[in-house]
Amino acid sequence: MIRISQLHKSYADNDVLKGIDLEVDQSQVVVVIGPSGSGKSTLLRCCNGLEVAQRGTIEICGERLLDHGTLLAEKALNRLRTQVGMVFQSFNLFPHLSVLDNVTIGPRTLRGMRAEQANEQGEALLAKVGLAAKATAMPNSLSGGQKQRVAIARALAMEPRVMLFDEPTSALDPELVGEVLQVMKLLAKEGMTMMVVTHEMGFARDMADRVVVMDQGSIIEADTPDVIFSRPKEERTRSFLQAVL
Ligand code: ADP
Ligand code: MG
Repeated sequence: MIRISQLHKSYADNDVLKGIDLEVDQSQVVVVIGPSGSGKSTLLRCCNGLEVAQRGTIEICGERLLDHGTLLAEKALNRLRTQVGMVFQSFNLFPHLSVLDNVTIGPRTLRGMRAEQANEQGEALLAKVGLAAKATAMPNSLSGGQKQRVAIARALAMEPRVMLFDEPTSALDPELVGEVLQVMKLLAKEGMTMMVVTHEMGFARDMADRVVVMDQGSIIEADTPDVIFSRPKEERTRSFLQAVL
């Protein structure tokens, strides 16, 4: 579903991604961990064309989003982007729209879905994330955990084939983290293909098919959670885990 090869990205003279190779198969959950500044967010943002890497190739569902450093043309790019849902640390809901309208605006404006159908789908998605009762609420009245669940429902409304999560629980009070992870676990169990940047090592241990460890723009190690958490090969992995666990 995702195939990244030899991805290089720099900001001015700062090499942020130094030749990333990574594949995510259908229904796999890949968790990306690593110290702050190691390039995790940049890697995710490259996967839906929010950032353009200077070199390398990214295939999403067999289509080349980036072909040896050249981004797909705008029309095809926008179409491919709808297949890649993204959830950020900051929820980025539209404050002036109701919860339901936040979820339906994508399908209505980008896919021309009729309001009735969009609302029906939106209500089903809100039920799925446990927020059926909040359809008419405004985002400001919600807790952080509820906002993030709306953000997930909004991403799902575009019927993506891949979901990217960038530290989805990092902005939440500790008691609200679980409700968001629970929704992510549900998606994983349903077979959603997911790439997740998180410091929630419990989630990584329980849900990841593979854990990818990044440091200074490179993947230093990638393996099953069992290997990464019990017997990592790299000293840098060990010291990172010691710092976060
Ligand atoms: P992580 O998500 O692992 O913390 P990032 O991908 O956010 O890492 O950042 C990796 C590096 O890229 C950092 O050195 C950061 O300062 C730099 N960086 C990220 N975004 C930008 C940007 N828009 N402009 C310049 N430098 C950036
Ligand atoms: Mg980041």
